[in-house]
Amino acid sequence: METEKKPCLAIVVPCYNEEPVLEQTTQHLLAVLEGMQEIVSHDSRILYVDDGSHDATWSMIEQLHAEDRRIAGISLAHNSGHQNALMAGLTTAIRFADLTVTIDADLQDDETVIKEMVQLALQGNDIVYGVRSSRATDTWFKRTTAQAFYRLMGKMGVKTVYNHADYRLMSRRAVEALLHYEERNLFLRGLVPLLGYKTAQVEYARKERQAGESKYPLTKMLNLAFDGITSFSMSLVHMVLWLGLIFLLIALGITIWVIVCLVQHKAITGWSSLILSIWFCSGCVLIGLGIVGEYIGKIYMEVKRRPRFNIKDERL
Ligand code: UDP
Ligand code: MG
Repeated sequence: METEKKPCLAIVVPCYNEEPVLEQTTQHLLAVLEGMQEIVSHDSRILYVDDGSHDATWSMIEQLHAEDRRIAGISLAHNSGHQNALMAGLTTAIRFADLTVTIDADLQDDETVIKEMVQLALQGNDIVYGVRSSRATDTWFKRTTAQAFYRLMGKMGVKTVYNHADYRLMSRRAVEALLHYEERNLFLRGLVPLLGYKTAQVEYARKERQAGESKYPLTKMLNLAFDGITSFSMSLVHMVLWLGLIFLLIALGITIWVIVCLVQHKAITGWSSLILSIWFCSGCVLIGLGIVGEYIGKIYMEVKRRPRFNIKDERL
């Protein structure tokens, strides 16, 4: 006989014009839920988030819900973007679920490892990351740009999980902690590692998109990358400051060069004053910008009002 209550799981799926894949995705995810009857409760559900689609996505979700109560959905008033759609789904999911899994509608991320994720959660992990072990099905361009991005983020001091997108399990308390990060420029891949709870990883091979086309064209990808860097890293501002210092050093070098020329009576009239003022003034301007940038950066961090800590355990 079971003594402990089984946790309720919500599989949160953001959908933007996903009409062509919805039917198939539903079947696959229902099969996953059926395969987990032993470990999750019966009211576990799929939660579709219609992110302001222009096609029949929402009416399909409504119909699926009418046919099967294990399928739920929310519809956003307008297209708010993948990250916001995920947040909307998580916010709704923790009203009834103890565990949430977020996965893309196209099921490029292997849905069969959800069971493994739940098992790891039952062993006490609050966050389980789905990590791609191979990107063979991605185009060369997508693969190289994505990997360059992860490396760059790492270099800039942003903690992300390598080869992990937004396929992850989170416990209710992890989602609740995440909701305290009230910033508008969402980059969940950077925020989740900040929570600091116990984490685990599962690996899977990324598949081809089942149908429909990618909703992440290059511009959206670049926007996400830029959001990730500017929301988590002050390194661009530091770079300006360093550049200013380098310019001043160059000005110093030119000063020495000019003095040497003067001593050797080789000076070209007008050249030294011009060159020196260019390097010196640019250096000063850059340092000034860098310093202003530091203050703006501090204000930026303050207005985000990120939580200062998350309590993991208590013995009071
Ligand atoms: N998506 C969304 N809103 C958007 C763009 C995308 O909710 O504005 C969803 C989309 O429906 C899918 C997920 O985000 O479930 C990832 O998109 P996609 O699979 O097209 O991205 P890719 O795998 O090409 O990076
Ligand atoms: Mg995809």
